[in-house]
Amino acid sequence: RKGNVVITGASSGLGLATAKALAETGKWHVIMACRDFLKAEKAAKSAGMAKESYTIMHLDLASLDSVRQFVDNFKRSGRPLDVLVCNAAVYQPTAKQPSFTADGFELSVGTNHLGHFLLSRLLLDDMKQSDYPSKRLIIVGSITGNTNTLAGNVPPKANLGDLRGLAGGLNELNSSAMIDGGDFDGAKAYKDSKVCNMLTMQEFHRLYHEDTGITFASLYPGCIATTGLFREHIPLFRLLFPPFQKFITKGFVSEEEAGKRLAQVVSDPSLTKSGVYWSWNQASASFENQLSPEASDAAKARKIWKLSDKLVGLA
Ligand code: NDP
Repeated sequence: RKGNVVITGASSGLGLATAKALAETGKWHVIMACRDFLKAEKAAKSAGMAKESYTIMHLDLASLDSVRQFVDNFKRSGRPLDVLVCNAAVYQPTAKQPSFTADGFELSVGTNHLGHFLLSRLLLDDMKQSDYPSKRLIIVGSITGNTNTLAGNVPPKANLGDLRGLAGGLNELNSSAMIDGGDFDGAKAYKDSKVCNMLTMQEFHRLYHEDTGITFASLYPGCIATTGLFREHIPLFRLLFPPFQKFITKGFVSEEEAGKRLAQVVSDPSLTKSGVYWSWNQASASFENQLSPEASDAAKARKIWKLSDKLVGLA
């Protein structure tokens, strides 16, 4: 049978390019988990995806109710779940004030981390039950959360501190909208959320890989400077960032190429190792990359898991 892959945020950018790449192989049915149904339908059509190769299901990661509803709907569809790709993200580099999810968490960490955390916790059982030979849970990471790289050292740097803001519920009423308890910074909140994504992947690996055989992986697909991720940045940045990445850092990848890379992590028989953070070299060959000390801190991963459990209502 075809594999069934759920991709969050498949209505644009990397998610859409991955959905298209997998659908085109004829071996995958793609469940596009998106907050805007019409946008997703239009995107799939204009990408030329065959009607029978995908299903769109509503998911707003900025609402825990919506995450739970998505999981119920998915279970009711009767489809087995073979691969889950946590790809959606928001990035608010110029926001002066925090905004919040339906449950009152700062939006970037609330969407990118907490929404995906609940989703993957609730869908793990479905993955366990699937008889697919190579089951995978993939959480898209980023170089920007890794302070052992040049890009990760552009301020404001990711730093989760002692997690006091997360423990306080990530809102300014109780504590702070930032995980480390500091003043709000939209760019930092995004980077912090990506560190949480990479730590969550590793904690999943430690807790469940041996028992379930599921592959847990993260990746940095390269700098896809043309996606909607930068939509809230200042116009001059949006104009100069793609050529800067193309000609100066040479880290630029097209959406199509990045989609092929993520599609490899979904389905390539040689990328089954669990607990790995994949990257690609200049020749577009994949390799296991090193994470920064914070993004590979097992004690922190465990603490974030426990605090996140409380915030999403699992503990
Ligand atoms: P895009 O903005 O193009 O895609 C993000 C997707 O997330 C969109 O489909 C968006 O939906 C969706 N999304 C946002 N909020 C929600 C929500 N509340 N519920 C459901 N879906 C939501 O950006 P990219 O394709 O660049 O980003 C994809 C992933 O790649 C992210 O995890 C990002 O961190 C990562 N990444 C990107 C890099 C880059 O250079 N672009 C580099 C490294 C990692 P909608 O279409 O409705 O807006």
